[in-house]
Amino acid sequence: MTVRVIGKEGLEGLLRALREEGYTVVGPLVRDGAIHYGEIGSIGDLPEGYRDEQGAGRYRLRQEGDLFFGYAVGPGSPKYFLNPPERLLFRVSSDGRGVEEEDGDDPGFAFLVRPCDVAGISIRDRVLLEGEYRDPHYLRRREKSLIIAVNCTHPGGTCFCLSMGTGPEVGDGADLILTEVSGKEHYFLIQAGSQRGKGLLERIPSMEASPAQIREAEGLIEGAKGRMGRALERDGLKELLYRSHDHPYWRDVEKRCLACGNCTFVCPTCFCTTLEDRMALDGSAERWQRWDSCFTLDFTYLHGGSIRSSIASRYRHWITHKLATWIDQFGTPGCVGCGRCITWCPVGIDITEVVEELRKGGG
Ligand code: SF4
Ligand code: SF4
Repeated sequence: MTVRVIGKEGLEGLLRALREEGYTVVGPLVRDGAIHYGEIGSIGDLPEGYRDEQGAGRYRLRQEGDLFFGYAVGPGSPKYFLNPPERLLFRVSSDGRGVEEEDGDDPGFAFLVRPCDVAGISIRDRVLLEGEYRDPHYLRRREKSLIIAVNCTHPGGTCFCLSMGTGPEVGDGADLILTEVSGKEHYFLIQAGSQRGKGLLERIPSMEASPAQIREAEGLIEGAKGRMGRALERDGLKELLYRSHDHPYWRDVEKRCLACGNCTFVCPTCFCTTLEDRMALDGSAERWQRWDSCFTLDFTYLHGGSIRSSIASRYRHWITHKLATWIDQFGTPGCVGCGRCITWCPVGIDITEVVEELRKGGG
């Protein structure tokens, strides 16, 4: 596919074209000392000149350089927009109007996101659209979405997308693909990944990329592969987790894990929700769907007791689902190697380290 090149004005033109086509552009911005995904009006909203430092239980932003996309990932992911943390399903009134369903007036999002998040969306598609039960709300938002992948040239200290085959260069699933290069000149390589992307690309002024520009961008992505903060050995991983059901290391994890659920909320693929009925004094009631986490005691509460009463069993369930049973259910691991669960765990529990400990124990 032809590789084109645009400058900062071209990037601004792309954002304008997206808005003119009716998209709500969701991309990176700085908020509360972190890179979040939010609505982007112009390139002035992007985190120009920001880098992130990430470690187990640690995240800091600092200013360095002039890249618009010089960070890895923040705590947010596209799931906040495709499956918001809470959502009204329907309202029941007591005045004879009966049940009013949510109106389904969903915005069309254009996501400006990392390759690992593109892979996260494709995993959510499998779970929420390709199984026996489809999520109609997700389907509506997903059908209207456009994905612009920004290849990663500065992975974070907790990233391991290379191990999971989801980055630092995007695979399938993007409508447009960008790679930012800033050296003697500051430019963006841009390629279409779909007909919709091709149509958009035709709307903005661009030039054909020179072989030297393409080589420079490829060199940056190769460099990123060598700077992954973490790695996860996947050989025999599923079997390792199945063998490790009674491994003593779960008790070590339990001593540190707070069962706060942060790892599940920041994870771009975790999809569990619960239902909540809210009653008002006028006799009306609402049914809401909201995110849930397998780390809460209530998650498996059945007939007077919780199936997973210990924190050890909840952590074991989470990691076994991510890296083993998810493969049996959906044909892919439930992890894209974004590292968020490591960075945003308040006590720094590290999924890659846990796997290493299980391996050491001869599990
Ligand atoms: S399990 Fe952790 S590293 Fe894997 S996708 Fe979820 S948050 Fe990212
Ligand atoms: S592993 Fe960390 S983030 Fe996840 S529930 Fe335990 S303490 Fe919270």
